[in-house]
Amino acid sequence: MNDTTKFQGLRRQLIKLLISKGIKNESVLNAIKEVPRHCFMDPSLLDFAYEDNAYPIAADQTISQPYTVAYQSQLLELDLSHKVLEIGTGSGYQTAVLIKLANQVYTIERQLLLFKKTQRLFTELGLRPKKHVFGDGYKGLPDQAPFDRIIVTAGAPEVPKPLLNQLVIGGKLVIPVGKKEQIMTRYTRISDRNFNKEKFGLFRFVPLLENKK
Ligand code: SAH
Repeated sequence: MNDTTKFQGLRRQLIKLLISKGIKNESVLNAIKEVPRHCFMDPSLLDFAYEDNAYPIAADQTISQPYTVAYQSQLLELDLSHKVLEIGTGSGYQTAVLIKLANQVYTIERQLLLFKKTQRLFTELGLRPKKHVFGDGYKGLPDQAPFDRIIVTAGAPEVPKPLLNQLVIGGKLVIPVGKKEQIMTRYTRISDRNFNKEKFGLFRFVPLLENKK
């Protein structure tokens, strides 16, 4: 799908809005300015692509709100050299933002329909995550661990232990934790066994589900 001057203009407006909501990280703002969110939306919702809202995608899931994508990306404190794991590929929008910010992005989705749809989209858009995996993100990706950064884009009732264990020392996990509402939480691994935990604002995500048959 083509990018147009209209969409580019709407993205510039979106950036202004994100700045007014407190997003400061220049690289994150640039990534959002560059990624054509409309390509990741259901075609019937194209007019809303640059509204700061979540919208339905396939399989009863949602494309995250741009503010949420920016907020989580900012909390990750990414560096291009980082190896990053994303749980919950969904539409692939957050993945595309991460690919602008880090050289190695691994991403997992557990809904087969979405996995296939987004895989086709990645090819069409020339986006190359290091790996796009169909599976249960609760378990992380033990074969590819450790990771410098891990981001979970679905609401987890509690933090999955395997994800903490797959961080390098100094690595960070950004995860919305809670049932109905989630507290954005950032864990930093400070030693083999110790983690620093920071809590940020309240958000609402679709649930992180374990082991769907
Ligand atoms: N980052 C996505 C957000 C999609 S919503 C975007 O911007 O579009 C969250 C996604 O997490 C959904 O696609 C859902 O299917 C997926 N998900 C839920 N539980 C999961 C699990 N255990 N492993 C991997 N993906 C999961």
